[in-house]
Amino acid sequence: MTLVDLIRQKREANKIGCAGTGGFDGWLNCPKCQQFVEEKTLIVKLKVCPNCEHHFRLSAKERVDLLVDKGTFEEKFSALESKDPLGFHDTKSYKARLKEAKESTALKDAVITGVGQIEGASFALAAMDFQFIGGSLGSVVGEKLTRLVEEAILDSLPLVIVSQSGGARMQESIFSLMQMAKVSQAIKRFHERGLFFISILTDPTMGGVTASFASLGDILIAEPKALIGFAGARVIEQTIKQKLPSDAQTAEFQLKHGLIDRIVHRKDMKKEVRSFFKHFLGV
Ligand SMILES: [Zn+2]
Repeated sequence: MTLVDLIRQKREANKIGCAGTGGFDGWLNCPKCQQFVEEKTLIVKLKVCPNCEHHFRLSAKERVDLLVDKGTFEEKFSALESKDPLGFHDTKSYKARLKEAKESTALKDAVITGVGQIEGASFALAAMDFQFIGGSLGSVVGEKLTRLVEEAILDSLPLVIVSQSGGARMQESIFSLMQMAKVSQAIKRFHERGLFFISILTDPTMGGVTASFASLGDILIAEPKALIGFAGARVIEQTIKQKLPSDAQTAEFQLKHGLIDRIVHRKDMKKEVRSFFKHFLGV
């Protein structure tokens, strides 16, 4: 079989199967335009498809590298790890899911938190990672975010949280839902000090994350075509007995309806955040 045949076969398989992550030997299948893109090209382009501008998901580590000046990031609270307070078991145990997620991402939970510099200005940064149990908001994610906000208050630092999450972590049930209130309370205290918070919503930002801290920024920025919403489209349609517009829950739809302030291409994100700091804080 020739290389072209292999690519064709793979492309067909991805049309049917798991779109977006398919590929082989350094090639990835773009879920939007279905073209194969060389991984090397994709890395140079910050994981944006050179054919159709589709923004592939970044890991939390890649997001930190995108926004923070090289060598300035100091990770905080990295030792925290989720327990299994409910002894939860669905098709597999929560403990097993945590173990798999830790091994596949080399993270201890679904967010990286720390402080660093962006073009010389210090700031506090949290970046979520969808690869870790859907970027879900478990008690460790909530605790790390809360501690980061509290540290930003103590040091009067601006804050950036990059969300990428399916919402609450069902395996932690009420312990997960409590994080929405906990982080929101911390952000309220942060705002009472007159400090500045930019919330960046990336694909996807859903459920309890949209319904809490991701919507509490002074400025809400999204990446193009990011899925942003609360409940899934099918659940909404079944509830209201109406068909949703085809672009509902996209960043563009949310911008049009006033939920977010701006859509920014990934290549411009760092300078955009920096310009907001300059404009609002004079730093
Ligand atoms: Zn594409």
